[in-house]
Amino acid sequence: MTDAAPLKLFNSLTRQLEEFQPVHPGEARVYTCGPTVYNFQHIGNMRAYVFADTLGRALSFKGYALKHVINITDVGHLTSDADAGDDKMEKAASAAGKSAWDIAKFYTDAYWADIARLHIRQPFQWSIATDYVPRMIEFAKSIADKHCYELDSGLYFDTSTVADYGRLARAATEDGEGRIEQVDGKRHQADFAIWRKTPVGETRQMEWDSPWGKGAPGWHLECSVMSEALLGMPFDIHTGGIDHREIHHPNEIAQNQAYCSSDHSGARIWMHNNFLIDRGGKMSKSTGEFLRLQVLVDRGFHPLAYRLMCLQAHYRSELEFSWDNLAAALTRLKRMVMGVTNVRASASMAGDIEHPKLVELLAQFDAAVSEDLNTAVALTCLDEAIAMKKVDAGQKLAAISRMDDVLGFGLMALDRSDLRVRPKAVDIGESEIEDTLTRRKQARVDKDFATSDALRDELIAKGIEVMDGDPLGWDWKLEI
Ligand code: AMP
Ligand code: ZN
Repeated sequence: MTDAAPLKLFNSLTRQLEEFQPVHPGEARVYTCGPTVYNFQHIGNMRAYVFADTLGRALSFKGYALKHVINITDVGHLTSDADAGDDKMEKAASAAGKSAWDIAKFYTDAYWADIARLHIRQPFQWSIATDYVPRMIEFAKSIADKHCYELDSGLYFDTSTVADYGRLARAATEDGEGRIEQVDGKRHQADFAIWRKTPVGETRQMEWDSPWGKGAPGWHLECSVMSEALLGMPFDIHTGGIDHREIHHPNEIAQNQAYCSSDHSGARIWMHNNFLIDRGGKMSKSTGEFLRLQVLVDRGFHPLAYRLMCLQAHYRSELEFSWDNLAAALTRLKRMVMGVTNVRASASMAGDIEHPKLVELLAQFDAAVSEDLNTAVALTCLDEAIAMKKVDAGQKLAAISRMDDVLGFGLMALDRSDLRVRPKAVDIGESEIEDTLTRRKQARVDKDFATSDALRDELIAKGIEVMDGDPLGWDWKLEI
């Protein structure tokens, strides 16, 4: 590969850093557990995709051809990790008086819009669970005899039939923690549904025929099936939020072992991002303020400020959300954009990087990214490159562009006016602001300070703060 430092990633399976060795030379195949589309994703969920995207970008930077799959769960995910209870999709549909298919489409579109706003690259494939139900049934049939048993409520996976069940979670196999749901007849607490039969006398909106009767697939089954179908097994890296380390991914691993008749886990490396928390603890859709990306935008924050906020922390650390942190990230982003705009203005094109300091900075950047995605340090390398004086602008631009490819801001095309987001509460258009500011400038030239002050007050009343002599050269900002 082109860059010097070997790529090391933290594998949740072994709980240690491991050097990345691709299954297929020169390629990196990655599967990311995606959203359950019964509601909007909150910004905590979006942290998981910023992480997966950054991982993908780092793999591209290291020279691997990336094959990334993100799934969309539009069936099968129950209202808890347990096997009893309502399907999230069906429940949301009946609450909204809509079909489950309409609900799925609406929230998938909303999710994709947020993906784009955060500069998360399009994966090689979005895999939609309902497209794969026939394949799930085939998968289940192939493991049913040796690894499953049937009850009135469905087909269950017998976790005692595979070696070392739960090794990812490091939980006891029998009576594992947190598994409190009761399903009559289950052989072990940790056993889970592969296929959930529609109860007699009921119909589900989403149901399919199967050898075990009409019903719907279990949630864990879909990820095993889609990752195997699109990436083959074993593939390189499986990602998700840290909650998946406890139940969802151990169950996927058990299915993979059964399907492959092997002890390997389906993926070589399992990676988990830690949670975004707020002061009250883990962010959730049901408690506290539901922070989705649009809420940040409504308050005047550009989505990329949130991306930067995520990258300032290591993906394995908890990150506490606060409006102050977000405001600080926005200021840092503005500085970067200002700096890069100036470099862009003085460079006709990106040149070959020869300046020793730039070469050294890129090596530091590479080392940081290669050390389990140390984006916090990588960001400081980018800041340093932007701040460098007396360096050929073309070379500088080339170095910045290379770093930006990993960090994902799109600095080659981002202008400071792009970062202005009008809060919902502000009732004034950009042309009106500029027009008022021009009149105010003229009043000041004319030494008509009464008019100048009045125009300033007029803007303040509309939520706009005038910034005379701002070091970053901004004429105005939105009062948030
Ligand atoms: P869900 O739509 O609930 O299946 O979650 C989508 C993704 O977001 C999964 O990978 C979760 O592990 C992850 N996730 C959920 N809550 C958070 C959070 N507060 N911070 C970071 N990731 C999260
Ligand atoms: Zn999954």
